[in-house]
Amino acid sequence: MFEFVVAFVLFYMWHGMGVTVGYHRLLSHRSFRVPKAIEYFWVLGGYLAFEGSPMWWAAMHRAHHRYVDTPLDPHSPRYGIKNAHYGWIFHKGYPEHIVPGAQCPDLYNDRVYRLLDCGGDWHKAHILTGLLGTGFRVVLLVLFGWQVALASLLAGLCMLQIPLLLNVVCHIPRLGYKNYALEDDSVNVWWVSLLAHGEGWHNNHHAFPGSARTGMKWYEFDVSWWHISFLRQIGLATDVHEAVRKPDIKSVAASKEPVAVVSDR
Ligand SMILES: [Zn+2]
Ligand SMILES: [Zn+2]
Repeated sequence: MFEFVVAFVLFYMWHGMGVTVGYHRLLSHRSFRVPKAIEYFWVLGGYLAFEGSPMWWAAMHRAHHRYVDTPLDPHSPRYGIKNAHYGWIFHKGYPEHIVPGAQCPDLYNDRVYRLLDCGGDWHKAHILTGLLGTGFRVVLLVLFGWQVALASLLAGLCMLQIPLLLNVVCHIPRLGYKNYALEDDSVNVWWVSLLAHGEGWHNNHHAFPGSARTGMKWYEFDVSWWHISFLRQIGLATDVHEAVRKPDIKSVAASKEPVAVVSDR
């Protein structure tokens, strides 16, 4: 049992931050830079949580920010909870207004990400994720036994569900609070941040999507940011974009006050 718990915690960190640090803040927003080996390490953690093609994920997420809570947003709860939760994943391919080659040239130029995208065929890309994710657990089973394999599988399945849950919960105003009076429905939800390594401060994130840090108030804990910050301190993360509150702003509740966004460049 002890082995299972330790393995689950470690895999929850790897698969979870694979999504938050790898897929989201690094690939989708390019809010910092790391050497390619570290990028692949985190992206692999997300991929093995059955997150699907990294290019697909980033293209859809960039579209979410560009068209947030409009009919062109891939998963806004304004147009149906079921579609916002999982329905959008089962579409056949990219809609007309989302062109990964044009909107994600940085990922399109990476052979690994292009390969995992299966030529834009969502069905094939999802099946490939499922097969490789399952194969990884079989390898763990053979090498380390059922407790480690099961811990990784459960952690991966949790992290498959949590971002989908976030897409819905953090865009329903009555379920959270806003620091910034944006036109969209994004809100901060503390318990989503607890489950998703700091990603629940979603109103902050929509206010400053290019920032590697999303927790803005002292109690808005942001585990993913702590990790990125650590990488910066030891020299492995560069070009780190960080939104910071002006020290004289006592409350940013419903504020449109511009907030400085700085980087370490
Ligand atoms: Zn959002
Ligand atoms: Zn984002």
